[in-house]
Amino acid sequence: MMSKRGLLIVISGPSGVGKGTVRAEFMKNEDLNIAYSISMTSRQKRPGEQEGVDYFYVTREEFEKAIEEGKLLEWTEFVGNYYGTPLEYVNKLRDEGKNVVLEIEVEGAMNVKNKCPDAIMIFITPPSMEELERRIRGRRTEAEEIVQQRLAKAEREMTYVGQYKYVICNEDVALAAELITVIIRRNMEK
Ligand code: 5GP
Repeated sequence: MMSKRGLLIVISGPSGVGKGTVRAEFMKNEDLNIAYSISMTSRQKRPGEQEGVDYFYVTREEFEKAIEEGKLLEWTEFVGNYYGTPLEYVNKLRDEGKNVVLEIEVEGAMNVKNKCPDAIMIFITPPSMEELERRIRGRRTEAEEIVQQRLAKAEREMTYVGQYKYVICNEDVALAAELITVIIRRNMEK
């Protein structure tokens, strides 16, 4: 029997909003049949991150080659580094019936929305911009200049909220994850 093609779920929200934490929480629901799309990036690995788990880490040259060869569903430059979604991997997982989650910033997400009108677009907001700054600073792994760039980018990212069908506030991780779980289940029933 052919299984139904998996959903494409796009989750955006300013850096530091807690997308990864929320994702880890809703992925505990195995019936959602989620596969996370691991992006390619030219940024440096942060302490605790793993190759092939958090990202595929490549050089700028390798990334540019992937762009030229059409291997990316979307890509962008974010605070000086490239980030992109490997196309073949996403297609393979969806063909296997997996519901694929992309955790990407807004510009890449708008490109996905154009290319794949059936993508389920979810935006996660912080309880406030002050709280977001606190969270970005709490990470303590980045220089002040990078923190400032991420904060400026966060302000710009917030202006895209209207482009998303679903908007979820991450004040409480368990609640945000539960709301996203409901959204995915409803779309799986369609
Ligand atoms: P970070 O450096 O904090 O891991 O990621 C920076 C931003 O890039 C985050 O908003 C993250 O969601 C986004 N991002 C990660 N992978 C991709 C990708 O493949 N494409 C796009 N457009 N953004 C990505």
